[in-house]
Amino acid sequence: NRQFLLAKRPAGAATRDTFTYQEVPVGKPGTNQILVRNQYLSLDPAMRGWMNEGKSYIPPVGLGEVMRALGVGEVIASNNPGFAVGDYVNGALGVQDYFLGEPRGFYKVDPKLAPLPRYLSALGMTGMTAYFALLDVGAPKAGETVVISAAAGAVGSIAGQIAKLKGCHVVGIAGGGEKCRYLIEELGFDGVIDYKNEDVQAGLKRECPKGVDVYFDNVGGDILDAVLTRLNLKARIVICGAISQYNNKEAVKGPANYLALLVNRARMEGFVVLDYAPRFAAAGQEMAGWMAKGLLKSKEDIVEGLQTFPETLMKLFSGENFGKLVLKV
Ligand code: NDP
Repeated sequence: NRQFLLAKRPAGAATRDTFTYQEVPVGKPGTNQILVRNQYLSLDPAMRGWMNEGKSYIPPVGLGEVMRALGVGEVIASNNPGFAVGDYVNGALGVQDYFLGEPRGFYKVDPKLAPLPRYLSALGMTGMTAYFALLDVGAPKAGETVVISAAAGAVGSIAGQIAKLKGCHVVGIAGGGEKCRYLIEELGFDGVIDYKNEDVQAGLKRECPKGVDVYFDNVGGDILDAVLTRLNLKARIVICGAISQYNNKEAVKGPANYLALLVNRARMEGFVVLDYAPRFAAAGQEMAGWMAKGLLKSKEDIVEGLQTFPETLMKLFSGENFGKLVLKV
């Protein structure tokens, strides 16, 4: 069993040295345990946060523990009445070939209904994040302007398509011409801002002539500050993530323009997808329905080889991923 363990808490970006690589024998399931052959692992920006010490929405990964990762795989031995050999499961499998343990929070997925990696993207935590952060926290109404950062990424691209389904004017902020073209030509976004090649303020003025009603923020930092200057009355800002800040060596940079919230009686609200677990099944069905009708597209960026884990994870922070980043074990 090849495994990556958390060796130290990184200052700044994680590197190969952040992890210990080891190979150990595969064990046998004890009471209530299952053994899973991991097939695809979800690589998430949040994993960088899980490496930090301190209080968060879930406990950090302990030093010397297998690095936490969600994934899908096949049950190959089971002492748990809820799971049988041959079942495919989605759960916190860890960055390793095999998961052995109690299937806490695991659920079954059907590889006949969708390719396995899709259960980590639109039909998994990524899709749930886009759905609930946009619809419950952003609460967009038809005709409103919705701006999304990291818009060509896993969460952003789904959120933008759902906002289009709700009749909104949707503007994506993404890095580079290829991603921006994809948003317009493939996903039907109304406007794009290429933050790597143009001034975001000027782009917002051009693409959001009626101001911004909902900002779905995945990046924080300077882009958040720029959007704050364009808010409409009663605007909603969803703090889904702040990837521009995750590798900071200094304190997180807060928004300088936050008084725009006061002026516009606007609201900024944090979001954690885990809070919505009781509603995942219903949302998943609605999303699968949209996909079946061709109304929602999901793009996975699959990289092969567990060995590449540290470098592949860091692609999220340079924008080298295009779509939901998945590691094929
Ligand atoms: P993505 O697929 O969106 O990948 C990350 C993208 O972020 C990159 O492709 C890159 O796109 C962009 N990016 C990276 N660094 C910067 C930067 N400094 N400034 C601007 N953009 C940057 O990842 P996910 O869809 O998985 O995650 C998106 C966000 O959603 C993250 O912030 C994540 O933490 C958050 N999230 C939150 C959850 C919650 O419950 N709150 C649950 C799941 C995700 P580009 O090429 O355009 O720069």
